Amino acid sequence: MKKFDVVVVGAGPGGCMTAKILSENGLSVALLERKTDMTQITRTCATMVAIENERYFNERMYLNEKNKRIIFPETGFSVPYDGPFCPFYNWNMYSPDGKHTVQLGDYKAREAQGKRLSVTYSKQHLLDGILKDAVDNGCRVFPSMNVIDVVSSSGGVKVYTREGTIFEGAFVVAADGVNSRIAHVTGMNKKRLFYGTMTGLGLYLNNFKITYPDAFNWIAFYHHANRLPMAFVATPTPYSDAEFWLWGSFISSPPEGGADIMGEVKHLFKHSAYAQWFEDTEIVRHNCHVLNMWSPLPTPYLDNIIFVGDSAWTVEAECTGSMMGGLKAAHAITTAFRDNKINREGVKSYITWWENTFPKGENYRDIITLFGIFELMDEDDVNYLFSLLDEKPLDVTLNPYRANQIINQVIMQKVGQIQKENPQFLAKLQASAAIPLEKILEPSVRRAFPNV
Ligand SMILES: Cc1cc2nc3c(=O)[nH]c(=O)nc-3n(C[C@H](O)[C@H](O)[C@H](O)COP(=O)(O)OP(=O)(O)OC[C@H]3O[C@@H](n4cnc5c(N)ncnc54)[C@H](O)[C@@H]3O)c2cc1C
Repeated sequence: MKKFDVVVVGAGPGGCMTAKILSENGLSVALLERKTDMTQITRTCATMVAIENERYFNERMYLNEKNKRIIFPETGFSVPYDGPFCPFYNWNMYSPDGKHTVQLGDYKAREAQGKRLSVTYSKQHLLDGILKDAVDNGCRVFPSMNVIDVVSSSGGVKVYTREGTIFEGAFVVAADGVNSRIAHVTGMNKKRLFYGTMTGLGLYLNNFKITYPDAFNWIAFYHHANRLPMAFVATPTPYSDAEFWLWGSFISSPPEGGADIMGEVKHLFKHSAYAQWFEDTEIVRHNCHVLNMWSPLPTPYLDNIIFVGDSAWTVEAECTGSMMGGLKAAHAITTAFRDNKINREGVKSYITWWENTFPKGENYRDIITLFGIFELMDEDDVNYLFSLLDEKPLDVTLNPYRANQIINQVIMQKVGQIQKENPQFLAKLQASAAIPLEKILEPSVRRAFPNV
C-alpha cells in the first residue's frame, strides 16, 4: 500500500490544481489518473475562458496575454498559460429552419472595436503547465490508475484501483469529473436528483464557412429521424491543425438503443438549412462525451473525502470553476494539517466557500431548465421563438444562466403579440414555468444511464 498525506483522484483542472497547491504547500501528494497520457484531452470541451465579461461563480477571470497567465482576481490567484488562444466576440443562436439568428451582443460592432467576449485556449497546454508545477514540487503522479472504490476508516481513506495498487491518504480529493465514480461508490449520488444522460461528439474542422466565425455559435436542432432535441455549437479554436470546434449532442438523454451521432452530423452537413456552411468542410479529428446530469451534492464532503469540480456540481463547474475549487480545497487541507484537525472541521473553509460559490452563486436549475424547455417544444416552436428574438442584437453575455434571463425579458414584453399569433406556443411556455422540471425531464430520465 502506498501512503500519502493526500490522494487526489483525477488529473483534470480540479485535480491538477489541488495537487499543485498541496505540493507547493509541502504535503505529500499522489495524483491518480486513469488515462495513460495524464493531460491528453479525450472528452469534449469548448475550452473557453468561462467567463471574461461578467461574474460567474462569484469570479470574473480573464486571460492576460502579456503576462501569459489566467487571472482570478477575486479568488486571488493566477495560473500560467503561455499556449495559443483565439478571441471571439459574441454569442449567436441559429434557428433550425435557417431563417433566424439571435445575437447576444452585436458581432460586427464588437469585432470592429476589437471587443472580445472571451477567448478559447488549449486545455492540454494549461494542464501541462499546472502539472509541471505540481511535479517540480514533489507531487507523485500515477497514470493508468483506474479508481474503483474508496473506503474511509478512522485511520485514513483507502483508494482501490482496478490495477490492484492500493493508496491511502489522510484525505482523498475526488476530482474525477462529472460521472464521478467516487460519488457513486460512496452513495453520494443517492442524495441527488437525476435528469438524464447527455451524449455527443466534439469535432475539429477546417473549411467551415459559418456566418459569424469568431463567435460562440449555437444551432438549435432536432434529430431528423427521432425528433429529439439536439444542439450544434461551433467556436474558433486556437489549434494549428483545425480552425473550428463543433459540438454535436443530444441535450437530454439519447433515444432508447442509442443513436448514431456522427450520422446526424453528416445529415447537418448535407441536408440541413445550414448545409452551405459545410460544402468543403473536413473533419480533422474528434472526441466524445457521456455526461450524467445530477443536481449538486448537498455538501462536497464525506468522511475525509473532499469533492472538487464537476464531481460535486451539475454538468459543468467549468475548467475555471474547477481550478478555483482545487485551490480552495488544497488550502483548506493545508490548514487542517497545520491545526492537526484531520476532519470536517479542519476543511470547513472549503465547504463554506463551495456553498457560497456554487449553490448560492448560480441556480443549477436554470441550466437544467434550458434542457427541459427543448423537451417541451418542437422545431416549429423553436423557429417561432427565435423569430421573436432576432429583431436586434440582445445584451451580450456568455453566461448561460444570464442568457436565460435576457431571453425571458424579451418574451415577457411580447406576451400580447404571442397570444394573438401563436396561443399554443404561449401555452407551452406557461406549462414550462408551471410543470416541475423533474416532471418535464421524466422521459429523459427513463432513457438514461445513471451512475447511482
Ligand atoms: C461540451 C462541453 C463543453 C465545455 N466547454 C467548456 C468551456 O468552454 N470552458 C470551460 O471552462 N469548461 C467547459 N466545459 C466543462 C469542463 O470541461 C469541465 O467542467 C472541467 O473539465 C471539469 O474539471 P474537473 O477537473 O472537475 O473534471 P475533468 O476535467 O472531467 O477531469 C476528471 C479526470 O478524472 C479522471 N477520472 C475519472 N474517473 C476516474 C477514475 N475512476 N480513476 C482515475 N481517474 C479518473 C478523468 O480521466 C479525468 O482526467 C465543457 C464541457 C462539455 C461537456
